[in-house]
Amino acid sequence: MRRCAHCILPETFPGIQFDEEGVCQYCRRMPDAERRAAQKVRLRTRFEELVAQVRTRPGYHCLMSWSGGKDSTYTLWLLRKQYDLRVLAFTFDNGFVSPAALKNMRMVAENLKVDHVIVKPRFDFLRQVFVASTQPGMYTPRALERASSICNSCMALAKGIGLRMALEKDIPLLVYGWSPGQIPLASAIFHTNPRMLQAMLEAAMAPLEEAAGDQLTVYFPEEHHLNNTHDFPYNVSPLAFLDFDEETVLHCIETLAWERPQDTDPNSTNCLLNSFANMIHLEQMGYHPYVMELAGLVREGYMSREEALARLEIAAVPAVVAAVEAKLGVSLSRRRGKKGEPPL
Ligand SMILES: [Zn+2]
Repeated sequence: MRRCAHCILPETFPGIQFDEEGVCQYCRRMPDAERRAAQKVRLRTRFEELVAQVRTRPGYHCLMSWSGGKDSTYTLWLLRKQYDLRVLAFTFDNGFVSPAALKNMRMVAENLKVDHVIVKPRFDFLRQVFVASTQPGMYTPRALERASSICNSCMALAKGIGLRMALEKDIPLLVYGWSPGQIPLASAIFHTNPRMLQAMLEAAMAPLEEAAGDQLTVYFPEEHHLNNTHDFPYNVSPLAFLDFDEETVLHCIETLAWERPQDTDPNSTNCLLNSFANMIHLEQMGYHPYVMELAGLVREGYMSREEALARLEIAAVPAVVAAVEAKLGVSLSRRRGKKGEPPL
């Protein structure tokens, strides 16, 4: 398969164009290293100003959206150890958080002295959402460029629950563990406001509405949350602008007794649903749902091209996929069979 000579985006990626040197438009459009470095310094300064501001407040200083994976665990470490913030960690349990990840979170929360809330919606609701997400067409092609349909649904719920919690508890910073490949620098820090949140919520809820109907509202901020709030939180993704490398991340979180889970596939350190979600995406879209993120990491110099390509080759663990299928009551092999034909 033909890929960008610089990052790793494949010819199957929607809208991809290669120039005569075989370099894609995302790489060509990328601002030069100096400009990006300057932008990162500005964001870091802005973040440190915000930290100084919120530290004088009573109550929690920030709500950390914590998946238990290595990036968000490292972000939690930064918030506590580097910035000395009073943190409430919140985890959305999609019903597929691996037992090893849950054990990690128990250890890390104690070692870092953070309060931790796990929100786990009832499974019949989650099942409805995830089964609907296996069908093509739930999300726009644009939304699927960075994450599978199942991941999109999961992130929408996690974001909604976190946002509602931040508004209810009047927490001024809402922190995410997105890595530089996952979000653009321009959205690494932003102040939310009612109009923006209204638009964000409508966009996040619309695809889920058909699958979940009126059960959905309890997981998202409601009108009164938006109307009765005075100080709207900042959204911050510190890893997007703080320099770090994989080795530092692993070293820091291992000091907290975080261990790499052996019960997920190596692409995800927390979610059992991941392999299944990736397989369906690859089959429906023709490119790996992580390819944009990995390409971003290569472009930004956080990962070598070889390493990124190797990550794409990581195969799903059949036993993990089979367990997901059994729990959701769907079968990939049955879905593969054409209409009217018996399952393969
Ligand atoms: Zn490229």
